[in-house]
Amino acid sequence: MRTIVTIAGILVLAAISGAGAQAPSSWPVHSTARPRPPVVDPGPAAPPSRPPSDAVVLFDGTDLSSWRADDGGPARWRVGGSGAGGWFEVVPGTGSLVSAASFGDVQLHIEWASPRPVRSEGQDRGNSGVYLMDTYEVQVLDSYENPTYADGQAAAFYGQHPPLMNATRPPGEWQSYDIVFRAPRFDAAGRVTRPARVTVLHNGVLVHDAVELTGPTAHEDRPPYEAHAPRLPISLQDHGAPVRYRNIWVRDLSDG
Ligand code: MG
Repeated sequence: MRTIVTIAGILVLAAISGAGAQAPSSWPVHSTARPRPPVVDPGPAAPPSRPPSDAVVLFDGTDLSSWRADDGGPARWRVGGSGAGGWFEVVPGTGSLVSAASFGDVQLHIEWASPRPVRSEGQDRGNSGVYLMDTYEVQVLDSYENPTYADGQAAAFYGQHPPLMNATRPPGEWQSYDIVFRAPRFDAAGRVTRPARVTVLHNGVLVHDAVELTGPTAHEDRPPYEAHAPRLPISLQDHGAPVRYRNIWVRDLSDG
């Protein structure tokens, strides 16, 4: 029997293989038809462990001295708890936090917890974000039994790559991101010569496997790269929800 391959069939096959390979641009930005990743139980949270000896510690549980407000003033988010279990929390309306130091290629460890009790739903439930180079957002969201568009759920590179799995713990429980980020490279004319490349584990579960970013992350847009400095701060998003963070450290992977 002759096999009839239709355009629609090719598109379906492309979509299926695209989802598996995390192809970013075969789906419109924030498409609600894009398959949401399977749910996996990552197991229980562990207490914060001591950072590696060569890490730059950005929060050790005590104070926000490694951070600034995005207007350049002092960080105004709330610090609570004590010792290694200390945390800080978004104070809605005070703006994002920006690291005092700048980084290029990094290994970043960061822990977060979405608010409990839960309020609202979708993108309004526990939204924050971890921005590499103040430009490329790994979404922070309460994605525990809270469906939203796949490229906007927890651990998504917002608007580009959904995570391979939904490894989100329930609201109020501590979660971790371990991110290996290779910054984009630009030539003297400002053209991108190597896109940013990222590997991420969410609660120890692989959710991005050396995927390339299409450019800066954005809402309802996939803008192209614009040349920027080789080192820029890490920032944390104020999206109006009192998300908590703790135990943040970076290993600098830049080669000079
Ligand atoms: Mg966000």
